Amino acid sequence: MEIERYQISVPSDVDIAEGLKINSLIEASQQPIADPDKWLDEELKRNVLVTTVDYVLDWARSRSIFPLMFGLACCAFEMIGSATSRFDIARFGMDIFRWSPRQADLMIVAGTLTWKMAPAVKMVYEQMAEPKWVIAMGACAISGGTFRESYSVVPGINRIIPVDVYVPGCPPRPEGLIHGIRKIHEKIMRESIKRT
Ligand code: SF4
Repeated sequence: MEIERYQISVPSDVDIAEGLKINSLIEASQQPIADPDKWLDEELKRNVLVTTVDYVLDWARSRSIFPLMFGLACCAFEMIGSATSRFDIARFGMDIFRWSPRQADLMIVAGTLTWKMAPAVKMVYEQMAEPKWVIAMGACAISGGTFRESYSVVPGINRIIPVDVYVPGCPPRPEGLIHGIRKIHEKIMRESIKRT
């Protein structure tokens, strides 16, 4: 008889509250919770790089230009200055000026070009492998400058080779040449392997 009295004992308030809590949890848990994949999206954004072959090739090419030194007159000293520690064109992946056209893809013509020298400039340009670019540095290289009317001066190097970028000045400062080099970078970044 003693045992029966315990079996029919009335549940306490604590038990009832706990039961209600569990019932409401069961009711609210009928569907699985969605995967917390937001963190994964963020992770992917940080680690997956989507780009094109064109972009990668152009980026690599523009940041590893090998300049050919072709100093013809006073402008050449500003070109040389651009390679020194103060202006430091090595920042743009142009560590060393080349003396051989076979190792270069950017010809910087700095100075007055005479007709006597013109065949040499043309020959050196033709010996450079494709793709290649040319900068005309200074008024003389662009148009003959102050010597334009002279019988012996080429009135612009674009008479004998194609020019990609013109850097004006007499002479242009190294910053001007660096600006021209950045323009060459922009030009390269617009190229596509479909066209080369
Ligand atoms: S542009 Fe001026 S500094 Fe340059 S080569 Fe001609 S004369 Fe000399």
